[in-house]
Amino acid sequence: MPELPEVERTLLSFAERIRGARITAVRLGKPLRWPLGCDPQQLVSQTVGEVTRRGKYLWLALDSGGLLLHLGMSGSLAFNAGAAPPGPHDHFDLVTARGTLRLTDPRRFGAVVWSPAADAGPAARLLGGLGLEPFDPAFDGDYLHARLKGRKVAIKQALLGGAIVVGAGNIYACEALFEAGIDPRTASCRISRPRAAKLAEAVRATLLRAIEHGGSTLRNYRDADGKPGGFQLLAQVYGHEGERCRRCGTPIRRIVQGQRSTFFCPGCQRR
Ligand code: ZN
Repeated sequence: MPELPEVERTLLSFAERIRGARITAVRLGKPLRWPLGCDPQQLVSQTVGEVTRRGKYLWLALDSGGLLLHLGMSGSLAFNAGAAPPGPHDHFDLVTARGTLRLTDPRRFGAVVWSPAADAGPAARLLGGLGLEPFDPAFDGDYLHARLKGRKVAIKQALLGGAIVVGAGNIYACEALFEAGIDPRTASCRISRPRAAKLAEAVRATLLRAIEHGGSTLRNYRDADGKPGGFQLLAQVYGHEGERCRRCGTPIRRIVQGQRSTFFCPGCQRR
């Protein structure tokens, strides 16, 4: 599933190239998670402005309103001049004078939704419940500690939920908890303020490193230039069940939390 670093890399791979491009046609494939919400003809002749990211959503500003894009479970975006004819999994083409932005999404949990503004209409509803951006200076130890206080849910689950901070998907939550030396099963309310500060820093550092390495290619992620990510090769615990921890030599354990695999080092990570 594309996570925040993959979405950020996707943005970086086409935002500059598409900015200022005039839309010449829109092609819809099979229905996606949510309907487009406007007449596709209404988009033609508009110019694409800034492309920005919020959580795992991309916002393409247009002359009038904009498009909110989500890659769902299996989506990827490509932006190419002279795109090939659409294949069976290509469900949205934004054809511009500079090239075609194409959403390929075999499982169709992705979406392209028109909204009058990023903070109004459907976009406001979809973005409303999101936690802070990890790179927002407000995401610090005090904030994290305050949001974890009184919650009994395991810290890994609290991170994955996305209502406190966005971007800590499964691989990144596992790696950040390893980095911070926190057992993923620890009750959120048991995390002290200093440990919360360490964890906030670890979340930020892990996501930054993932963005720098092009995100993670766990299944079939590619950015809009067709490049895969390489972060999974740097993972210290994720996917390393039974192997010795590179820091302390203890075998890495895998457990299941909320139906997702959690990998951690019982030697380095404490409750
Ligand atoms: Zn260890």
